[in-house]
Amino acid sequence: MKSEKYRCIYCGKESEKEICNKCLSERDVERIKKETLFKIDGILPLNIFRKFLLIAIARNFPSIMTEYFSGRNLFPEIEGRIKVHAAKREIIGSFEIRSGEIVDIVRAEDIQKISYKSRSKLTSLKWRSIYKEKGEIHGIATVWTLKNLHTAGVKLETLTIKPIILGRKILAKEH
Ligand SMILES: [Zn+2]
Repeated sequence: MKSEKYRCIYCGKESEKEICNKCLSERDVERIKKETLFKIDGILPLNIFRKFLLIAIARNFPSIMTEYFSGRNLFPEIEGRIKVHAAKREIIGSFEIRSGEIVDIVRAEDIQKISYKSRSKLTSLKWRSIYKEKGEIHGIATVWTLKNLHTAGVKLETLTIKPIILGRKILAKEH
């Protein structure tokens, strides 16, 4: 029987499974088995995605948002997790969060793209500008991320959200 071909849900490369070996090795497989992952696509303005980022990194510390990110053009950046691509950008400060990660405060204008990964890397989202602050997001999200999107003011019914059914090859993987 010919084996099925997939495109890895995280990196897009061809794979024999829904998640390629490389992306799988960077993540906790046991956790993937327990979580439901969703593929999401839709239109989302920049200010809402910005709010989502702040909630995702400091949900229990709303004071961080008001203290460090008072301006609309201030964005969080974390090495390996959150990256802001903009025509004009500068890091104006940084601070440490509870996880031990360093958050850079980036002042940015003309944002082209922002990529976000959760600490577990199970969520991986990209926001892309369509026209100025109008934009779209797409990527993979956990239930927890959907909750954070909702808290940020995203009307989830306006997005296309589809659960990803993982095949036996991943679910039966021995570790
Ligand atoms: Zn991959």
